[in-house]
Amino acid sequence: MPSYIIDRDYRLLYFDPVTKLRFPKVTAGEVCYRVFNKTENPCRGCRCFQYDSEKKTRYYNRNVEREVLTSFTPLSGAKENEAWLVTLEEYVPDTDMEDENPEAFSDSESVDEVDLLTGLYRYRTFARRAISMLRKNPLDQWAMMAVDIRHFKLFNLQFGDDAGDQILSQIGTYLNSIQQQKNGNCEVGYWGEDDFYLVLPDDDGLIRQIETGIIRLIEKYDRQNSFPPCIGVYHLTEHASFRSLCDRAQLAASAAKQRVRDRIVYFEESMIKDLEHRHELGNAIRKGLKNREFVVFMQPKCNLNTGKIVGMEALARWKKVDGAIVPPGDFIPYMEETGLITDLDVYMWEEVCRELRSVMDDEKEMLLPVSVNVSIADVYALDVPEVFRTLAERYGVPPKYLEVEITESIYARDTERINDMVHQLRKDGVTVLMDDFGSGYSSLNMLKDISVDILKIDMNFLAMNGENEHRGIDILRSVIQLADKMQIAVIAEGVETREQIELLRKMGCVYGQGYYYYRPMPMRELRKLIAQKENIDICGIPNRKNHIGWREGI
Ligand code: C2E
Ligand code: CA
Ligand code: CA
Repeated sequence: MPSYIIDRDYRLLYFDPVTKLRFPKVTAGEVCYRVFNKTENPCRGCRCFQYDSEKKTRYYNRNVEREVLTSFTPLSGAKENEAWLVTLEEYVPDTDMEDENPEAFSDSESVDEVDLLTGLYRYRTFARRAISMLRKNPLDQWAMMAVDIRHFKLFNLQFGDDAGDQILSQIGTYLNSIQQQKNGNCEVGYWGEDDFYLVLPDDDGLIRQIETGIIRLIEKYDRQNSFPPCIGVYHLTEHASFRSLCDRAQLAASAAKQRVRDRIVYFEESMIKDLEHRHELGNAIRKGLKNREFVVFMQPKCNLNTGKIVGMEALARWKKVDGAIVPPGDFIPYMEETGLITDLDVYMWEEVCRELRSVMDDEKEMLLPVSVNVSIADVYALDVPEVFRTLAERYGVPPKYLEVEITESIYARDTERINDMVHQLRKDGVTVLMDDFGSGYSSLNMLKDISVDILKIDMNFLAMNGENEHRGIDILRSVIQLADKMQIAVIAEGVETREQIELLRKMGCVYGQGYYYYRPMPMRELRKLIAQKENIDICGIPNRKNHIGWREGI
């Protein structure tokens, strides 16, 4: 068992022969973490100077590449605890130790499990310490707090794994400082990924302070606050087990993730019901995907001057076994949160290519471009241009009949990545539309930085301006003028009335999609419609690429 003595600066004062044997490069005066753990900083969460009794800590040691138990003993006789005896011992998991029931632990349990990255306690130690703290005070003064960073996986993709590790480590340091400030009235734990837990006094001010502290750390990477901490709080009452306290706080944190603002949510019993509902929905969706219960509905896009159809948008519907049709609002949000949306989207894109092929094979009908929706999860999970290339080839569909709709908010999230994708799609001959333009706040500004073929403006955007409709109309007019200058075509969506059409035409907008013309319809109906030549206009929507005088980057 290697043993050595270090001083307050982590310098090795003495090491035994076993240490020399295991770590041949060890020299007196060197700092321990460099020799024993190959790091340039003290091991995160080193408890060396915090204990005055023999206590073991479990670390992953990078030098020997396995977990070790480290114990620190202050040397009596040394002035003011100026020297510590450290012993390393190989960690051998024992089956009892893996027992998930920390309540069974006695306070004298001598192994602390610390996470090296964050310096925080792992679940078992956190639970043991928290339980012992809770026993000292009435239960109802306490809260369990779960912290979850929204879209943390995306943060890693966007800024890299190293930045992800750095932010977790900084949050760890920050929470450790809170624990120290609270002086025995707070315990902090880390369960991996972006899951942090705290047991602390149920004090609104303290909880908000922690939220602000974490936001400040993340702001250094992302000023737009796209990755906010989502906080779930459970005011402690009698409970079945310690884990159930954590689960309740976690459930509240999941609810916080759905919020646009005020992301501190207290647990409510109804959340358990919601969870059950989501679980059932998830199972039903997975089964539905397997059984091909999702179908393509098409909504025509029209020329506002002639009313003729210039293209279509494919929209998903879930046709249940009993024939009921479920609208996207009931399943898309769940699928987006869980990543299942990518399965649906690839399925939809393929169904559209299959339909286009079938229309091409059936000479009665004329081919019109069809747009499909691309979700943010697709951008990270797939090589989207490659998928479209493959599908176009497999079904022999000329890419100019394929259009993709990407919502404005996605552009704002990761402009560089999206721009690369859009560039490639357009190079391959696929038309790119920016969907829901005007719904965000950075819209006009954004137009300079991106290159798309067509802008889709939602008429709801006028309703959003409410009493201030004139202002909405002014903005709409300037968007149409700006797009015209940049030679980007504009299509208005959600067109419901004759008045809206007149207004749009006066402003110079030529295309529209909405209930005034057609509602989304099943494929069979659409095909009947486009089989009649007088209903369609095969010129489609001229876009930037085929516009005369089009110049890149205007
Ligand atoms: P979106 O892409 O903005 O699609 C337009 C939505 O507006 C459609 O709703 C359409 O039915 C609706 N709409 C069209 N005309 C009018 C109108 O005149 N008035 C009103 N009030 N609404 C109109 P839908 O089909 O319910 O789809 C909702 C959203 O779900 C879509 O919004 C899109 O974001 C998403 N979605 C639908 N299918 C898919 C899909 O296959 N993949 C992905 N990723 N998202 C999809
Ligand atoms: Ca769309
Ligand atoms: Ca839209």
